[in-house]
Amino acid sequence: MNRTASSTHNRATRHDEILRANVIIVGAGPAGIGMARVLRDLAIPEVRLLERERVGASFRRWPEDMRFISPSFTGNAFGLTDLNAISYDSSPAFALKREHPSGPEYADYLEQAVEIFGLNVTSGIDVLGLEPDDDDILLHTNEGLVRAQFVIWAAGQFQYPSDGDIPGAEHGQHSSRVRRWADHAGEDAIVIGGYESGIDAAVGLAAAGKRVTVLSRSPAWDRNDADPSLALSPYSRERLDTARRSNLISLIGDADILGLDRSNNEIRVLAADGRSWKTHSRPILATGFSGSTSLVDDWFDFDDEGCPSVTAHDESTRLPGLFLVGSELKHRGHLFCYIYKFRQRFAVVGRAIAGRLGMDTDPLEAYRLNNMYLDDLACCDIENCRC
Ligand SMILES: Cc1cc2nc3c(=O)[nH]c(=O)nc-3n(C[C@H](O)[C@H](O)[C@H](O)COP(=O)(O)OP(=O)(O)OC[C@H]3O[C@@H](n4cnc5c(N)ncnc54)[C@H](O)[C@@H]3O)c2cc1C
Repeated sequence: MNRTASSTHNRATRHDEILRANVIIVGAGPAGIGMARVLRDLAIPEVRLLERERVGASFRRWPEDMRFISPSFTGNAFGLTDLNAISYDSSPAFALKREHPSGPEYADYLEQAVEIFGLNVTSGIDVLGLEPDDDDILLHTNEGLVRAQFVIWAAGQFQYPSDGDIPGAEHGQHSSRVRRWADHAGEDAIVIGGYESGIDAAVGLAAAGKRVTVLSRSPAWDRNDADPSLALSPYSRERLDTARRSNLISLIGDADILGLDRSNNEIRVLAADGRSWKTHSRPILATGFSGSTSLVDDWFDFDDEGCPSVTAHDESTRLPGLFLVGSELKHRGHLFCYIYKFRQRFAVVGRAIAGRLGMDTDPLEAYRLNNMYLDDLACCDIENCRC
């Protein structure tokens, strides 16, 4: 595709088209906002963010007690950008005076960023799907059609939970749907899944005085891997160690859950080896997320693990002009599911788009200087830390 910054505007408008832009970014979470900031620095005209709810909506849905796992610290001036910052010149630690912000606090930081960077967000637009239309991409939304030369998919994972295909999952409740652990009915709780969300649920439930059983296929809490996308973060590990002193948490690390069934008021959780656990309250499903690319799965290829395939500049291998940023990104077997990881790819996408529009890419040097430009993916191939 060889496009210029104005080609979109030469095309005839369809009667139900409500908006056209050079670049549409779907989702105003950290990925969408950080990406929009890079495009602003590149002076790309007509960049619009479409958001189904409001800026930082996923973080406003976090359970009340949940906190950021990755710590915030204002090291920006020394080239060590706050791990949770979406730009090299901002810091949630500085804005919020918190090391581990809550969801709503972090959403406040995102709202400030939108205002200070002067980004163009339209809220209340729910993107329902997309399709190519000649050289453009047409987005189907709840309000009508939107036309763009480039679409950057930044709709995240949190609002697209997965029940792990467990039969009877409707008797449980996904961890992302819980607002307060203290509201969980009864005195005992079962959590299915033992990674970050499962351990966060267990710690929150134990703090509310519940006796918790965590059922996991493998003991993720014992995994010793240098990649925090695979092993429990130090923050969660520390919280778990403290919470376990109450003797309210049992960790079972060899339970392959086959299904949930309900009779009268009792829910039974069945494991492949014949064991079962009974409870009167809905088991918590900490079974992960299917991700928002499930909404546009006709336009991405997916690998054996169900992750979207992208080119070296994070463009769909199936639909040119459609880019992916954020927590669903994967390269060389590494998940970019933390902000400090996926933010390093905004500049790569920015360079691809600016290059095709014939725009100057010099402003990206600031990103390289500030460790926010990861184009050598071999850097991610960390082996275990030596200590
Ligand atoms: C339990 C848990 C703890 C986590 N802790 C950390 C942490 O400590 N540090 C860290 O770096 N990461 C953490 N993460 C990962 C974190 O969720 C992601 O880093 C971050 O939210 C991803 O940002 P995003 O912009 O890709 O997605 P989101 O924050 O989900 O933003 C997507 C936005 O898109 C909007 N949207 C969705 N679908 C549509 C649509 N169809 N049309 C229009 N708008 C749409 C949503 O409303 C939302 O505002 C955690 C995740 C979980 C589940």
